Amino acid sequence: MSDETNTHYDVVVIGGGPGGYATALYGASAGLSVAMIEKDKVGGTCLHKGCIPAKELLESAAVFRTVSHASEFGILTQRPSVDWSATIDRKQRVVDQMAGGLRTLLKGRKVDVFDGWGTLGPNRQVQVAGHGESRIITGGAVVLASGSVPRLIPGFEPDGHTVVTSDEFLDLRSLPATAAVIGGGAIGCEFASTLADMGTQVTILEGLPKILPGCDMDVTSVVERAFKKKGITIRTGVSVTGHTPSLSRGTTVAFGDGESLAVDLVVVSVGRRPYTEGLLASGTAVQTDERGFVVTDALCRTHEPGVWAVGDAIATPQLAHVAFAEGIGVIKDLLGENPTPVDYGKVPWAIYCNPEVSFAGHSEQSARDAGYEVVTAKRRFVGNSRAVIVGEPEGLVKIIAEKRPDGTAGTILGVHMVGPWVTEQLGQGYLAVNWEATVDEVAEFIQPHPSLSELFGETVLSLTGRSLH
Ligand SMILES: Cc1cc2nc3c(=O)[nH]c(=O)nc-3n(C[C@H](O)[C@H](O)[C@H](O)COP(=O)(O)OP(=O)(O)OC[C@H]3O[C@@H](n4cnc5c(N)ncnc54)[C@H](O)[C@@H]3O)c2cc1C
Repeated sequence: MSDETNTHYDVVVIGGGPGGYATALYGASAGLSVAMIEKDKVGGTCLHKGCIPAKELLESAAVFRTVSHASEFGILTQRPSVDWSATIDRKQRVVDQMAGGLRTLLKGRKVDVFDGWGTLGPNRQVQVAGHGESRIITGGAVVLASGSVPRLIPGFEPDGHTVVTSDEFLDLRSLPATAAVIGGGAIGCEFASTLADMGTQVTILEGLPKILPGCDMDVTSVVERAFKKKGITIRTGVSVTGHTPSLSRGTTVAFGDGESLAVDLVVVSVGRRPYTEGLLASGTAVQTDERGFVVTDALCRTHEPGVWAVGDAIATPQLAHVAFAEGIGVIKDLLGENPTPVDYGKVPWAIYCNPEVSFAGHSEQSARDAGYEVVTAKRRFVGNSRAVIVGEPEGLVKIIAEKRPDGTAGTILGVHMVGPWVTEQLGQGYLAVNWEATVDEVAEFIQPHPSLSELFGETVLSLTGRSLH
């Protein structure tokens, strides 16, 4: 626990994940005195059990793919093999390095970090309990940023070796020969992709009619094709009903209409639920909804004056960068700077499986469902020189624009990408969608050649009715 004697702060933040630490860092940079309470590790899910370790493992898989195909480029190596334990060690070094950096940053900004459990009581009093001690600190403002934990399925309780959630998956010390990934959302697809690239035989069991809900259908089709090529079996529209552990190792998963699948590992990846246990004492007006999310307005204000909530604990897209944006907005709001609420329909999404996926704004279907008449264009990476040079020609860019009365393409409503490094290429599409730019405006801008991002430019250009390649 901090040895600061302060008991009152301008801002007290409960939770030290992306939502909490972004609020703390941004608030401190605005000159506010800030306390942040964290019961586990500063950095939260994202840094310790989410974004960073998951992406590090995907990068190790990418290195394995690259080395496996090196001979195509005239680079001769021995046939590569995986030392998963070394992979996990590197993952941990990356996490530790980033965690150290974050702690230094917080110290540099003079954020008082309390190691303990925070509970909000009346009058913005927060009890901090930890290491056998308990103290009360107060905030001019309090920000709840308690995050989320993996959702579980009855009958599939994690045991750390045969049945795991993302929490345990990222620390597995050995690679399974076979795995069932229950849930084909972003996290499930990232894990399936990592495992399959490393040589595991993977089956995705998804209850919905398609994997990657929320993605444009054309994008999903590319991922499905690529996954099948890697040997991943995708079963959609099936529910799991239970599993029977084997006496030796692994288990048999029952699913669908009497089907079963014997695997070494089951990865349960069916979403995350808000974590608000022990967060609220009686006497505050903060409300939670029937799913457990803290209820807020568009500016993340709760029902209790002077108390805000951000990140996965509220019912907004569960993304670290959304939590960052909410934290910034809260500090601006409490400083009376009239922030613009986050437009949740237009935030950037990035899924780091192979091939990568990224998007902002409407898919073709969601635009039509919202009542838009649309014009769309698709361009494939196979015609992009840089994609062919790097040897990853699978994928496409799709742009959805509002149809003008004369039939031409107007405002850009959505940009959807799948293919090489598209998570790094979404910036222009994100700006176009959020700036409500038209196709004609964006088509004026030049893209570097040869580059993967040229495909975005080409796709926009084609919506003007003319094109180059
Ligand atoms: C495998 C995986 C991959 C992901 N990949 C991405 C990605 O690529 N990009 C992306 O944007 N998002 C990704 N996410 C989602 C991202 O991790 C979350 O959206 C983000 O961590 C939410 O931040 P948060 O601060 O709201 O919550 P959390 O990160 O969950 O942090 C909450 C913190 O609060 C602490 N806490 C809770 N209650 C209390 C209390 N009462 N007192 C004190 N401390 C408390 C917890 O210990 C925790 O440290 C991924 C998630 C997972 C699981």
